[in-house]
Amino acid sequence: MAKLSITDVDLNNKKVLVRVDFNVPLDKQQHITDDTRIRETLPTIKYLLDKNCRIILCAHLGRPKGKPVPEMSLKPCAQHLAELLKTKVLMAPDCIGAETAKMAAALQPKEILLLENLRFHPEEEKNDPNFAKELASLAEVFVQDAFGTVHRAHASTEGVTKYLPSYAGFLLKKEIDYLGKALENPDRPFVAILGGAKISGKIDVISNLLGKVDTLLIGGAMTYTFLKAQGISVGNSLVEDDRLDMAKEVLAKAKEKKVTFLLPIDHLVADKVEAGAKTQIVGESIPAGMIGVDIGPKTIALFGEAIKRGKTIVWNGPMGVFEIDEFATGTLAIANDLAAATKQGAITIIGGGDSVAAVAKAGVTSKISHISTGGGASLEFLEGKVLPGIAALKDK
Ligand code: AMP
Repeated sequence: MAKLSITDVDLNNKKVLVRVDFNVPLDKQQHITDDTRIRETLPTIKYLLDKNCRIILCAHLGRPKGKPVPEMSLKPCAQHLAELLKTKVLMAPDCIGAETAKMAAALQPKEILLLENLRFHPEEEKNDPNFAKELASLAEVFVQDAFGTVHRAHASTEGVTKYLPSYAGFLLKKEIDYLGKALENPDRPFVAILGGAKISGKIDVISNLLGKVDTLLIGGAMTYTFLKAQGISVGNSLVEDDRLDMAKEVLAKAKEKKVTFLLPIDHLVADKVEAGAKTQIVGESIPAGMIGVDIGPKTIALFGEAIKRGKTIVWNGPMGVFEIDEFATGTLAIANDLAAATKQGAITIIGGGDSVAAVAKAGVTSKISHISTGGGASLEFLEGKVLPGIAALKDK
């Protein structure tokens, strides 16, 4: 990694401001329903505790739109972190202001203070320099460990780095190492699997990956825009008619770059996108009145063979409407194929909330090399974009 991380500097006894991703789902009783993001920050926090640091954590939760919203308080995260670490975690009443500054100043080595939701202030997302400076004034060093937010230039991702020496935490480093190696120096064959609803949302990823992968597998609804662009009938499947030219350009570019570009060769179709719908397996073209909702068995086998040959495999986006169990077969098959490929020594990387949910549904989460914690950030990384929260960290 080209950026300095927390192991590259002496952090002994330092007062450290750490941007973490505690944007966890809460139920109506304010219970955390999935604590993955909090657990993912533990290596960095434990390392800083070992170094006798005074630790000030900052994060956002939900979309409070620049004002305090009690249901979006980070208090449940403070409590949960305390349980995970078996230590006290202090909670600040705000992320800036006199009371917060007093609590930060009074911190002792190995003490942890969690600041209240950064996005209670509109200045956070506006990357306001005074707000960033006030945040920075709480500490001597800044550590970025919230991969899920580094694609945004906010006060706590970019602004603050102007006032403090800034380094990557372990979670961020892991994300950059996995995604960076896949793009820059992948073990080959490099196979990418893209699915989901729309070409428009993934076109920049497709374009960037076409210059890097050996094989690109396409599933999900974007399939039908590619098929229609080739004059194949798609019935009532989801199609982006304004992206047909874009689809043609992608197909031409894949040919030019000699990428093996595989589209589904059969489909599960349904008369409506609902559980209990009338379904049927069909070949390449979709009958009138029917909707493509998943890849078919021949496609599962075809994609499975390509995945088996892969040494680096990146997956983003489901192969069908996997939220409905009857349409989840293709997506779950891909999840299992990735787990099997990992066992055979391939490096497997999954990004995007739906694919992450699919591997969880298949029960193979622990069998994947790297599951990215940032959906939007991992997509922008795969697009080859400069992510402001990474660019702002100190170079090696
Ligand atoms: P994205 O956010 O672009 O990754 O899209 C994810 C969504 O695409 C999921 O909610 C899926 O239900 C949806 N999706 C996948 N395949 C299809 C399909 N064949 N028809 C309609 N929606 C689909």
